[in-house]
Amino acid sequence: MDELNCNTVRDLLPSFDEELLHTSVRAAVTEHLTNCPACVAALNAHRSRMRTAQLIGRERDKKFCKSAAKTRAYWKNFIIAFILSLIGTLVAAFFILPLLCAVF
Ligand SMILES: [Zn+2]
Repeated sequence: MDELNCNTVRDLLPSFDEELLHTSVRAAVTEHLTNCPACVAALNAHRSRMRTAQLIGRERDKKFCKSAAKTRAYWKNFIIAFILSLIGTLVAAFFILPLLCAVF
């Protein structure tokens, strides 16, 4: 493969980093990187940005899981409270209605 210039290499860096390039292109990029400190710096900057994006994504996932757990707990408690109040109403009706009927 022909020698690559810096602009081409920088366009290829994300694919290079994810090992998506054809073997010959990857070899040409690797060759360029051995002789070009500026492109190595660009690769390192790209990797740093990717790490930051991953950390932000993980933090967002954690917040989502916490929020989902709170919602689950809320609905669980709501359903338990609803069932208990229903049972309470039925029990009260079972014992109080005969008393009321006896009184009136
Ligand atoms: Zn370069």
